[in-house]
Amino acid sequence: MKYLAHYPLALQAQVRQLIADGKLADLLRKRYPTAHEVRTDRALYAYVIDLKNAFMRNAEPLAKVAFDSKLHVVRHALGTHTTVSRVQGGKLKSKREIRVATIFKEVPLELLRMIVVHELAHMKEREHDKAFYALCTHMDPDYHQREFDLRLYLTHRDGGGERLWAPELAGDVAGAAPACAVAQD
Ligand SMILES: [Zn+2]
Repeated sequence: MKYLAHYPLALQAQVRQLIADGKLADLLRKRYPTAHEVRTDRALYAYVIDLKNAFMRNAEPLAKVAFDSKLHVVRHALGTHTTVSRVQGGKLKSKREIRVATIFKEVPLELLRMIVVHELAHMKEREHDKAFYALCTHMDPDYHQREFDLRLYLTHRDGGGERLWAPELAGDVAGAAPACAVAQD
């Protein structure tokens, strides 16, 4: 349960039970029936810039936004934000980049948005502290629920679960899912 390690034990136990009952995948598919359509780096860049312009217009410009197949999901569950500094013409120039792990090409828009919001917030707040999460929930009022749901999906995949929103599976939505309280602590 490495993706859920920071959640209350009772909630982790509930998730473990859902997995044991084979109900986690259905729950996620029921909650999020379709995947987003942000398939290319260009589309991702446009999506990120729209969000940045809406909420963080004054933050530094982004030099690069891309899906990254080499991003190790275990270490960077959510993506990375970096500032690449290099000397150009005698001046130190820094370039802001946001990279999103390729696994998130195949998730619902709500979950992609959560990752992007997370990385955008890091442009202003480095640590995962109160100010950071305040900025996240400003950009996405459901931020905490989305992050939990994203971690549920990563837990599902980590346990050998199938891809839930692969393009070839579109429309193949499973039946009834149980109601489950996945409230935050
Ligand atoms: Zn972070």
